[in-house]
Amino acid sequence: MTFQESLGRHILVEFHGCAAEILDDVGRLEAAMLAAARLAGATVIQSIFHHFSPFGASGVVVIQESHLAIHTWPEYRYAAVDLFTCGDTTDPWVAVHHLHQELGATSHSSIEMRRGSLRDLPRPEQPADLEQQRRDREPVEPRLQRNLWFTDRDDNQAFSLRITGKTLFCERSPFQLVRVLESASHGRFLALDSMLMCTERDEFHYHEMMVHPALQLHPDPQRVLVIGGGDGGTARELLRYPSVRITLVEIDEVVVRASRLHLPSLGSSLDDPRVDLRIGDGMAFVQGADPASYDLILVDGADPTGPAERLFSRGFLEACERALRPGGLLVAQGASPLFHADTFASLHQTLRLVFGEPRAHVLLFHAPSYPTGVWSHHIASKGDLHPLTDLDDGRADAFSRREGLRYYDAGVHRASFQLPRFVRELLGRGG
Ligand code: SAM
Repeated sequence: MTFQESLGRHILVEFHGCAAEILDDVGRLEAAMLAAARLAGATVIQSIFHHFSPFGASGVVVIQESHLAIHTWPEYRYAAVDLFTCGDTTDPWVAVHHLHQELGATSHSSIEMRRGSLRDLPRPEQPADLEQQRRDREPVEPRLQRNLWFTDRDDNQAFSLRITGKTLFCERSPFQLVRVLESASHGRFLALDSMLMCTERDEFHYHEMMVHPALQLHPDPQRVLVIGGGDGGTARELLRYPSVRITLVEIDEVVVRASRLHLPSLGSSLDDPRVDLRIGDGMAFVQGADPASYDLILVDGADPTGPAERLFSRGFLEACERALRPGGLLVAQGASPLFHADTFASLHQTLRLVFGEPRAHVLLFHAPSYPTGVWSHHIASKGDLHPLTDLDDGRADAFSRREGLRYYDAGVHRASFQLPRFVRELLGRGG
């Protein structure tokens, strides 16, 4: 039976030897399936993909000509795909060959079935008015909707954002997969591998609390070193202080490019003449820095994975201490007492060893799009500055109002250093 003698062609494909990490990445699976549909000449209507815990994914792309569907088993490096197309405007085999490439398959087997043999179906009654309605109806351009979720998770908990629109930026650098995606509720967001870094909706919580508690304490901030922070959010907040000159050392130029292109409220700060942007490893930079050369050092690295891992090491923090001027302050993003609690606690212990027990402080703040929503920055002083006794509340409040800050002010400053008992115990600072 030719496919003209049937209503549709249904191709079932078994892909073997696929790349497991692709089979577990819904973003890439969805991009591959959408591209396959388009290459086959289909018109995409909507897609929905779901990631299963701990791994594997399912997804359906609804097309004007019916659908493509996939289910993956990363642990077996196997994917089951079916492509159903009616009419003769598409060539589903083009989609099969595209998916073979995109899934990194070593082999595939397939069968094609003819669905809805016209010989077996009654002659369709087609009232004239229905034909007329069909001729009158303007061809409606199908709007592509998507129900794809980006999930940032560890083994036991997850945070997901529903993604709308197309992927704005996706490039694998030598360090990580750098993406800028559009979400339904949080605007655009930067993702490094499967870690959500910052969203347009609530990045100000993190960046205001990275910068202003320390800058409000320091009496005369001039030279500031930022390690990481290639999205530009920390630099934006620092530039609110006219006296400040910034050296920013980001290891991955792809992050800078992604932010400049698609996160202008953050990335545009990197073009400011007061920002000396260096692409390189922050650890090597600090180890090569002259002693006592910075008033503040802000470590705006990702969680301790990949190149960011060394930013939590004692060697790195000792090099920072050496590079700080007397009276200088170090600020480091420090994970959460509820997520990577061991990183949170060990960073504090290391700062106590390097700067001295009474000079290491921890503040907590709300970070709604980070796992658990509770995040920390750690502040260490190379001198006697104390986050509570040395704060000028009037100055901090006036600054906050003048700059239109939406998170930081004097009351938030003080409250952020008041730690719950379970956190004090986690830090070994007594109940
Ligand atoms: N500012 C963001 C936020 O709101 O949470 C997260 C921090 S930022 C995106 C983390 C940056 O640190 C990344 O761009 C990463 O490439 C950079 N990074 C990681 N390890 C580094 C290293 N050893 N030296 C310099 N930059 C590093």
